[in-house]
Amino acid sequence: MTDVVEVAVVGGGPTGLMLACELALAGISVRVLERRLEPVRQSRALTLHPRSLEVLALRGLDGRFLERGMPLPTGHFAMLDTRLDFSALDTTFKFTLFLPQLVTEMLLEQRARELGVDVRRGHEVRELRQDADGVELTGTAGGQSFRCRSRYVIGADGARSIVRQLSGIGFVGTDTSVTAVLGDVVLAEPPSTPVVSVINGRGGIMIVPLSPGLHRVLVVDPERMHAAAREEVTFDELRWSVMKIAGADFGMREPQWLSRFGNETRLAEAYKAGRVLLAGDAAHIHFPAGGQGLNVGMQDAMNLGWKLAGVLREVAPSSLLESYHRERHPVGDALLRNTEAQTALMNFTPSVLALRDMMSGFLKNPVLNRPLAERLGGMDTVYPELELPAPACEGELVKTSTGRRLPDVALKLPSGAVKRLYSFMHEGKWLMLQLRDDGGPAVRLDSRWMRWTNVVQAHLGEEREELRGLRGVLLRPDGHVGWAWA
Ligand SMILES: Cc1cc2nc3c(=O)[nH]c(=O)nc-3n(C[C@H](O)[C@H](O)[C@H](O)COP(=O)(O)OP(=O)(O)OC[C@H]3O[C@@H](n4cnc5c(N)ncnc54)[C@H](O)[C@@H]3O)c2cc1C
Repeated sequence: MTDVVEVAVVGGGPTGLMLACELALAGISVRVLERRLEPVRQSRALTLHPRSLEVLALRGLDGRFLERGMPLPTGHFAMLDTRLDFSALDTTFKFTLFLPQLVTEMLLEQRARELGVDVRRGHEVRELRQDADGVELTGTAGGQSFRCRSRYVIGADGARSIVRQLSGIGFVGTDTSVTAVLGDVVLAEPPSTPVVSVINGRGGIMIVPLSPGLHRVLVVDPERMHAAAREEVTFDELRWSVMKIAGADFGMREPQWLSRFGNETRLAEAYKAGRVLLAGDAAHIHFPAGGQGLNVGMQDAMNLGWKLAGVLREVAPSSLLESYHRERHPVGDALLRNTEAQTALMNFTPSVLALRDMMSGFLKNPVLNRPLAERLGGMDTVYPELELPAPACEGELVKTSTGRRLPDVALKLPSGAVKRLYSFMHEGKWLMLQLRDDGGPAVRLDSRWMRWTNVVQAHLGEEREELRGLRGVLLRPDGHVGWAWA
């Protein structure tokens, strides 16, 4: 017996769950097939960067995450002594949120279920076959086989993605050449500052808070960095490396999770093959430096969800889906390059230590610090103009802000009330922001546009250089500018 849904998402990690939420919000029937029976128990990824928090705020979800995490106004690039200053960024979220991945996944799954997503645990996908009208997945669940037919399939099934493999999409890059280890441990004598890094000729360590009483200790030890990623980490190894590098073990005990990870670096050649789309680690893997993988996966999901929903609801042409690869593949590529650069800097020879010192010095200059903070925080992504016909408008098309994200600016409504821009984006639709004084329609939206667009008339409640002189802005559901008119 074959079940039929509009979209099947393979993988119930953060990327798959976020995508499922976006699709369900648009009324699409979606099923998540996840092979694990239980949610993950290890902390895994720790950071939600500023753009991910904005993405959550665009759907009114930021509060749920903020109340569970710990904000930190800085991030790191290659564990350099000078940290990246998120507090200088042009956003409501001038920090990274420390939140274990298991909590992120739990909150996303909760939201998915609220929206009616059919999350099926214990379902492992093994085969995939696509034809002109859809895709058939087969797999096993509880010793039985299952079939699921859908119009589209999303491979959010992580680095070893079977969806990617069965779709014949190349995963091009390099094998692991360097490994590092981490331990989530109790520290009887924790450092006095929230984040500590110690770097010297003996190696590098970074210690960050995880939850009350628990710390994450990361170690790059030149004597151990060629150990195979699959080699088990022991507590003694972790403590020995920390003692050697820092001269103290901080009273380390009770390891909750020990892991060795490497710098295998690969990017999917195509994010779309027919009716199959890839997102998250299924599309890009890299050394987890700067805490970016989960964040980029969630942002892939935000880019793809509304497009796929628009195509399925027949308000957008299927060609809109091609823009997913066009927009997100370069972001994946840039992610790989910045993590490669960080890996090169996590070496502790005298020449690399000298280079690290120089870079740390440069980063004390806010003019140099900010672009790197924007890059890691996910704030600097600008998309090319969409290959959709722009709606008719009396005004002149202005391209300077095309594809840029808009921050959560204050808007003054005709009633006199002040509301934030993102509060109008919770439904996951386009937003026509009319900024004209006379209240007349700056842009004429035909019935097709009106089906997935909300219209708000307002004045800016704050000075914004990028919006000066504009009469109307049509904002994509992911918060980037589609078109703007003067
Ligand atoms: C040590 C370490 C620290 C990290 N720290 C950070 C950090 O601080 N910040 C950050 O942003 N990122 C970090 N990352 C990266 C982050 O963990 C990943 O990028 C993130 O988990 C990717 O999410 P995903 O949903 O794309 O894939 P995954 O989390 O890998 O989820 C894929 C899901 O698919 C399921 N699946 C796989 N195959 C099948 C199948 N055949 N059928 C059904 N289900 C299947 C899996 O069970 C899994 O649940 C870190 C990674 C490591 C290793």
